[in-house]
Amino acid sequence: MITSKYFKEEEFQKCTPSCSLQDMDQEFMNLLDALREGAGIPLVLNCAYRSPAWEKSKGRSGSGDHPQAKAVDIRCNDSTNRFKILRAAYKLGIKRIGIAKTYIHIGAGSNLPTQVAWMY
Ligand SMILES: [Zn+2]
Repeated sequence: MITSKYFKEEEFQKCTPSCSLQDMDQEFMNLLDALREGAGIPLVLNCAYRSPAWEKSKGRSGSGDHPQAKAVDIRCNDSTNRFKILRAAYKLGIKRIGIAKTYIHIGAGSNLPTQVAWMY
C-alpha cells in the first residue's frame, strides 16, 4: 500500500489523466512529502502517474518520469511559490525539473538524464 503524509487519494483522482495514489512509487511519494514540507506551501497536483499507453497517444516515448510513477506536475502560477518549490527541490537533490508558466514538473525517473532543468 502506497502512503503519503500530505497527498490524498482524491488529489490523484482529480489529476489529468486521473490516477491513484496506488499508482505511484513509494520512494517518490516520500520525496514529494519532503518537498511539500520543504516548500512550506500546499502543492496542488495537475498530473501524476500516466500510463505508457496515454503517453504514446500523446506522441511521447512511454518511458518518461510519469509512466515510471516517479513524477508530478505541481500547479504554480506565481514567482514566490515557484521560488519556494524550486529551492526545496534543489535542497532535496531532485535532478529532473521542468518549468512551465503554470506548473513545475518534478521527476525522479530511472534511465533518464539527471541534473537537468528544462522549459516548456
Ligand atoms: Zn511532468
